[in-house]
Amino acid sequence: MKALVMREYKKLSFEEIPKPEIVSTDEVLIKVKAAAICGSDVHGFDGSTGRRKPPVVMGHEGSGVIEAVGKDVKGFVPGDRVTFDSTIYCGKCPECKTGNVNLCRNRKVLGVSCDEYNCQGIFAEYVVVPERILYHIADATSFEEAALTEPSGVAAHAVRLTPIELNDNIAVIGCGIIGQLIIKILRPSCSGRIIAMDIDPEKQKAALQAGSDLAMDSKQFDHSIIIDRVFEAVGIEATANAAVSIVRNGGSVTQVGNLSQKISFPLQAVVTRQIKIIGSCAICGEYPIVLDMMAHGKLDVKPLISRVVPLSEGQIWFDKLYNRTENLLKVVMIP
Ligand SMILES: [Zn+2]
Ligand SMILES: [Zn+2]
Repeated sequence: MKALVMREYKKLSFEEIPKPEIVSTDEVLIKVKAAAICGSDVHGFDGSTGRRKPPVVMGHEGSGVIEAVGKDVKGFVPGDRVTFDSTIYCGKCPECKTGNVNLCRNRKVLGVSCDEYNCQGIFAEYVVVPERILYHIADATSFEEAALTEPSGVAAHAVRLTPIELNDNIAVIGCGIIGQLIIKILRPSCSGRIIAMDIDPEKQKAALQAGSDLAMDSKQFDHSIIIDRVFEAVGIEATANAAVSIVRNGGSVTQVGNLSQKISFPLQAVVTRQIKIIGSCAICGEYPIVLDMMAHGKLDVKPLISRVVPLSEGQIWFDKLYNRTENLLKVVMIP
């Protein structure tokens, strides 16, 4: 089959590799129909994260059609249109058994190659995954839209972990894909104001289109507005500190961004102002929610898709995303 393989950092080759096979009886073979490029793929592209060690077939946000199923697969048949979790959780460890599959201690992420494992991703014609991470997609949802289920699930997970009360004012710092999805998912249920913050005026505009009431650079923030909840979707020192400085005493900061491994942190402010800091990782049970929202027109991800391109052009689009030469949000590749 054809696949986009990163043979060395920043070098992608569109080449022939062996088609994966069903090994375990609970697995399915999927013909990939759409595969979106994630920010984590772009950050891994230069080796800086240590999570995309060559050789690797990246990609974990996608959709496709089932081509074959193992003999113990019960809920899916060839021809089914599906999407899948980015995390292959084991289903057996203490975290999995208590329902926290996103925190599985044996998890592997599709398209990640690190010291512990190398898991083939979906920048390829085919992928094999276990049934437990699969979800059906509605007829009304295109493969390209379904490829955004994973980042939508990440945003929905952060929203679900946050103790939001009616009429809370909510700030979202960082209006890239995840920030905009948080705004889109919050909007239908949020009666308070949603205030988007980003240094990029284009992203501020996009955040207003996504449903925020106001959009600004966090430096322009008017501290007379009481902010009850903050979502931090960048993950660097400046924005993590801004989140703490704008939230009201006793409020919460949900930390989704994690670009920096370590930052200096305003510990005393967090303690003396009793701010709740919530880490949010991946997705745990939100796939059916966001798929349902998409199917019923409550979550429109189409405005987030900047380009749909052939997988063979992977190098070109990774270069554009990496060098930020164009104002791109999601690029979806078609194998
Ligand atoms: Zn992703
Ligand atoms: Zn597990």
